[in-house]
Amino acid sequence: MFKITAIPALQDNYIWAIHDSKLAAVVDPGEAAPVLKFLGNHGLQLNAILCTHRHGDHIGGIAELRKVYNVPVYGRRHPNNPHITHDLREGDSLKLDPFGIEFVILEIPGHLNDHIAYRVPGQKSLVLAPEILFCGDVLFGGGCGRNFEGSLAQLHHSLQRLAQLPDNTRVYCAHEYTAANLRFGLACEPDNPALQQRITATQQLRAANQITLPSTIALEKATNPFLRCTQPEIIRTLQQRGLADTSELGVFSAMREWKNHF
Ligand SMILES: [Zn+2]
Repeated sequence: MFKITAIPALQDNYIWAIHDSKLAAVVDPGEAAPVLKFLGNHGLQLNAILCTHRHGDHIGGIAELRKVYNVPVYGRRHPNNPHITHDLREGDSLKLDPFGIEFVILEIPGHLNDHIAYRVPGQKSLVLAPEILFCGDVLFGGGCGRNFEGSLAQLHHSLQRLAQLPDNTRVYCAHEYTAANLRFGLACEPDNPALQQRITATQQLRAANQITLPSTIALEKATNPFLRCTQPEIIRTLQQRGLADTSELGVFSAMREWKNHF
C-alpha cells in the first residue's frame, strides 16, 4: 500500500509524494529542498520523478534531486525539459512496482502542448481503491490552467476528457488556487448551492491552514465553471458581459479570457 502526501513548495505549488515506509516517488518537483527535507523527516529514499509539464515551477528541483538520487525521470520529452529519461505518450503505461501502481498516460494539451496527466484506474476488486489523477496545471480545484500554448479548443477538450473520468477520481492538482478560483466561480454562477457549500468548506480549511486537495471529479463537475459551460446561469452571466457565441466552446473561451483579468 502507499500514501499520497502534499509537499508544499515555492509560493503555492504542491509536489505530490507517493510513498510507503521506505520509498517515495514525487510528481513535479519544482524545488529540491522541501523534497529532501520530506524524505529525511520520514526516512525515505527517492526512487522516481514524474513530470506533468516543463514549467520551471514543476521541474526546477529535478537536477538537484538527481545529484543525490540517480532515479528515472518520467514525462514528455521536450527540448526545454532536458531531465526526462523515459518519454511518455498517450496510452503508455507506467508501473511503479514498489507501490503496486500502474499509471495510464493521458495527453492533455492546452496549458502547454506537451502536458500529460497520470491516471490510475480504480480496481473494482478493492473497495478502497478510487481512481487517482495527477493533472498538473490543466485542472485546478474550482478552475483550470491558463492557455499558454495551443488553442482554447484544445484546453477545453482536455478538460472534457478529465471530466469524463469516474466521479470518485481523486484529483491531485499542482497548485493551491482553490479559494481564488471559487471566487471567480461565484461571479459566473452565484446561485449554485454546491459552489456556495464548497466556498464555505474551503474557507474553513484555509483558516485552519489545511490544503484543499485532492478534489474529486464529482466535486469539480458540480462547482468548477470551466466544466459547466452549458449551465444556463453561466451563459446568462456571460451574455450580460457581451457574449454572442453561446456554444460550449464560446462560453468556455469567454470565461477563460475573463478569468485572466479577474
Ligand atoms: Zn504550468
